[in-house]
Amino acid sequence: RTRPGTLQDSLARHAAERPDHPALVCGSVQVTYQELDRRSDRTAQALTASGVRRGSRIAHFAADSERFHEIVLACAKTGAVLVPIDWRLTTAEVTHILRDSGTELLFFGPALAPLVQEARPALPKLRHTVPLDTAGFEAWADARPVDTGFTAPAEAEADADSDVVQIYTSGTTGAPKGVVLAQRSFFAVAGMLAEHGLEWIDWRADDRSLVCVPGFHIGGLWWAMQGLNAGVTNVLLPAFDSLRAVDLIREAGITTACMVPAMMRMILDEPNVGRPDFASLRKVVYGGSPISDTLLRRGLDIFDCELAQIYGLTETGNTAVCLPPSEHRPGSPRLAAAGLPYPGVRMRIVDSQGDDVPTGEIGQVWLHTPARMAGYWNLPDATERTLVDGWIVTGDAGYRDEDGYLYIRDRITDTIIVGGENVYPAEVENALCRHSAIAEAAVVGAPDSASGEEVRAYIVLRQGHDVPAAQELTRFLSGQLARFKIPATYQVIDVVPRNPSGKILRRKLREQLWADSDRKVN
Ligand code: ATP
Repeated sequence: RTRPGTLQDSLARHAAERPDHPALVCGSVQVTYQELDRRSDRTAQALTASGVRRGSRIAHFAADSERFHEIVLACAKTGAVLVPIDWRLTTAEVTHILRDSGTELLFFGPALAPLVQEARPALPKLRHTVPLDTAGFEAWADARPVDTGFTAPAEAEADADSDVVQIYTSGTTGAPKGVVLAQRSFFAVAGMLAEHGLEWIDWRADDRSLVCVPGFHIGGLWWAMQGLNAGVTNVLLPAFDSLRAVDLIREAGITTACMVPAMMRMILDEPNVGRPDFASLRKVVYGGSPISDTLLRRGLDIFDCELAQIYGLTETGNTAVCLPPSEHRPGSPRLAAAGLPYPGVRMRIVDSQGDDVPTGEIGQVWLHTPARMAGYWNLPDATERTLVDGWIVTGDAGYRDEDGYLYIRDRITDTIIVGGENVYPAEVENALCRHSAIAEAAVVGAPDSASGEEVRAYIVLRQGHDVPAAQELTRFLSGQLARFKIPATYQVIDVVPRNPSGKILRRKLREQLWADSDRKVN
């Protein structure tokens, strides 16, 4: 029985059509499509024997590995919902996610055992904990009766509308919320592109796809599943390391990759990297946070392949908007755009009353996409605020040009209001990054008695450069930005605090700012 538009159906098809083709490569481990199908069958069977049913929450709390993909597919086969958890979270954060989701079975990295032990008393619903080392996992799977040719019970078999993952937002805008996504979220974009013959994000049978964004982030999981749905080889880089990424691209002959801008910058900043390192690349997909035009130009030059930008949220099932490769011409004004909604995605730009604003005017972005979330887990009020008649209220400020391209300004909550004028931090950061001495910049607002708020900039220097004088930076920005957008102060820092998906943690910078002002007062 086939269930088109499901992860398990794609897997079965590739396992039948190209059984010996490698599906996953992780270090020295290689798993073919046939092996992945069999291994996920066995895991699905062990899950079922452990009492897991359709809708049960299963958590994965470890660095990515081939086993992670096997578990995602086993969940798809049983109708269970996978909760992938960032392995760098604290005990309190992990406990919150496990409790909130009502996780029944937890796969965990052996190094995280003490944390799991500590959290367990607060988790009455958690019935099984399975360590992900070979011995621990095999002991769990072996203890369940093995039935060759396993098929999930008919009532449990998942279709395109079945929930398959629950991803917790990283909480840059508040307490983490569990975003529930159905199988269709992993098929909608590919379907819309195929229907219209568009190759914005395309796959070739011999592609070797770099998976370096972690799977607990929608960007990483979505990309990995696109590769598996297309039957190509996913090459995993579990804990991001820029030097390793460069080596892997060269040694594994990577043809296509997806990364966040912060990863792109780290890769391009590796000493002595150049075009020859990336000769095998044919397409790099990037997104997840704003990108500076300096970085984008460097990417175009040094990767020397097609680039596609994606924009979206966990709530929109990852990307809803894409800037296709054809718009990535050096010098094109469209390089500042996030892109066009996929055919089949609708977009509105609205004011605070929910009315559409004219073309070119900034408002809040709303998106209507078939890949959208089912809702937030156990948060009906938050769901009602974010999912309005099928539209996702993104929380992002942006505008649309005459041709329908979306330009993202920044998150509305990060907007700095200086004397009644809106300043979007990303625009100021982008302008600062054009300075030859500046590698990275982060901008936040600070209370100011005269203008309400003022702009404060944090900068990371390029290696070998001296700190530029504040006057020089102000002069440099004056040519690019209106006066009210120019920072009142500049502070040099070693690193810009970011979350694992590369977003600037402005909250951390604001906390620092308050701590500093307390010190000054005392
Ligand atoms: P939280 O909602 O708690 O902040 P999060 O940061 O994990 O959690 P995501 O759903 O991963 O949330 O991020 C979505 C946001 O990322 C978008 O709303 C937007 O601000 C930003 N973003 C994603 N892609 C792009 C892009 N191409 N350009 C600019 N910003 C982007």
